[in-house]
Amino acid sequence: MVSNKCCVPGCSKSAASKFGVPKNMMNVWENIIGCPLNRNSRVCANHFKPSDITSTWESGNGSSQISICLRKPRLKSGVIPINNLSDEVNDINQVSLGNSIDI
Ligand SMILES: [Zn+2]
Repeated sequence: MVSNKCCVPGCSKSAASKFGVPKNMMNVWENIIGCPLNRNSRVCANHFKPSDITSTWESGNGSSQISICLRKPRLKSGVIPINNLSDEVNDINQVSLGNSIDI
């Protein structure tokens, strides 16, 4: 049984949606959240901007664009958790994506 608990320290909110950690974002998210993550870790929707979460799948452009409603919401690529994190973590805007972070 996979743990369904949000991995953010101190998070006690129960959100409807939880998201796995993207493999290429694992180190970035670890630094932001401040705890070790693994591929079973889940982060709940409380930590993301609503605009970072998509519940539709879109393809094509202009009049040929199609939009399909997903059964489960997904995170957009490159998104990082920024809301409701522990107090120690500030300056999220300083995090530069794509670079390794040494703290
Ligand atoms: Zn949470």
